[in-house]
Amino acid sequence: MTLSLQDCRARDAQDPLRPLRDRFNLPPGVIYLDGNSLGALPAATAARVAQVVTDEWGKDLIKAWNTAGWISLPERLGDQFAPWIGAGPGQVVFTDTTSINLYKVLTAAARVAQADQPGRKKLISERSNFPTDLYIAQSVCAQHGLELVLLEPEEIDAALTPDVAICLLTHVNYRTGAMHDMAAITARAHAQGIVCVWDLCHSAGAVPVDLLGADADYAVGCSYKYLNGGPGAPAFVWVHPRLTDRFWQPLSGWFGHAAPFEFTPDYRPAAGIQRYLCGTQPIVSMSALQCGLDIFTASEALGGMAALRAKSLALTDLFIELVEARCGGHGIGLATPREHAQRGSQVCLTRDEGLGVDGKNSGAYAIVQALIARGVIGDFRKGDGGTGRHKDILRFGFTPLYVGFEDVWNAVEHLRAVLDGGEWREPQFNQIQAVT
Ligand SMILES: *Cc1c(COP(=O)(O)O)cnc(C)c1O
Repeated sequence: MTLSLQDCRARDAQDPLRPLRDRFNLPPGVIYLDGNSLGALPAATAARVAQVVTDEWGKDLIKAWNTAGWISLPERLGDQFAPWIGAGPGQVVFTDTTSINLYKVLTAAARVAQADQPGRKKLISERSNFPTDLYIAQSVCAQHGLELVLLEPEEIDAALTPDVAICLLTHVNYRTGAMHDMAAITARAHAQGIVCVWDLCHSAGAVPVDLLGADADYAVGCSYKYLNGGPGAPAFVWVHPRLTDRFWQPLSGWFGHAAPFEFTPDYRPAAGIQRYLCGTQPIVSMSALQCGLDIFTASEALGGMAALRAKSLALTDLFIELVEARCGGHGIGLATPREHAQRGSQVCLTRDEGLGVDGKNSGAYAIVQALIARGVIGDFRKGDGGTGRHKDILRFGFTPLYVGFEDVWNAVEHLRAVLDGGEWREPQFNQIQAVT
């Protein structure tokens, strides 16, 4: 083991993305490794929100829909962000939540599949997909006479058969950080006539994504994680241009109407991605999101996604290497793939069942709580209780916009101290809270 704190500091000094850290307000003394769950606060956001409230709303009142361009914000932000997911102009809107957007695109996908490939009855997804995706899929299946089939990752290839209507996958798994090969799976699915829906919640702004290059059909994703849009910030939706105008999406609200201010009694969908809007958008929240997106735009001058990805892999490699070298003997394992091509921007550690204070749970939750008390913020995701293949997870997101190499070193030193000293056994770290 040759790595030292000095080496980490030297890597920070050489990091071309280092200036971006100043575009965030992080509390002093905190090492924030949870930007994969709620991104950090951009330095520009508070003033921007104040300006929207005080000037745009306060002074211009309803005129601001025109004067401040509120009406076109979903499309403008969509166009600004589109290149980061390999989409073209006019193909992306920010609106609603990921769950709601997934309902829209899965319903559209079901209609496309039933028109083009009638008789297909299956919607396949991953058993360890984020639960809201599966809940929404259950609803769409019930409405369209489809059967939801849940698979382990290694079963997906063989399950791409001509009886499948839709394949719904999350590109980077929220529990393990494992990343699918979007282009390869989409190509194999299309060869079987299957419509592909991708969830980019843990990919957008975190890893390179090329939706048009992969020839995907539909995509949704979140903006309060890696995009730093703020709690509950509007999600995005993308539809391949060949499919956008084929069907309405089911939430046919007036913002998706071709001429909302004609107030006609009949719904007529707008052409293009605008039809994926539903009702009036949360303008304050959407304006805050712009500050997050602006940091990505600014990063283009420093190397853009190629530089972000290179740093993200260097950070996660370093974390894995240091944990394995310095935190041994405590039942900690690695859930995230070592191969770069299969890794998102997070590292998930496992902890064996039965090592917790009561001899029953894994103690992973308490370890995360003890780390948070030391200012190292990650999170915990529950496993299946030792009955199946999913262990409890200690999850650490590495956002290259504001996490540095010294942060990684210090985070691992805290983890080592928490484990070696048994600090996590203290009762206050073993009280389970509402949000983990
Ligand atoms: C975070 C996340 C969501 C969140 O959905 P919301 O509707 O914003 O609550 C959905 N799917 C995946 C895969 C996620 O990671």
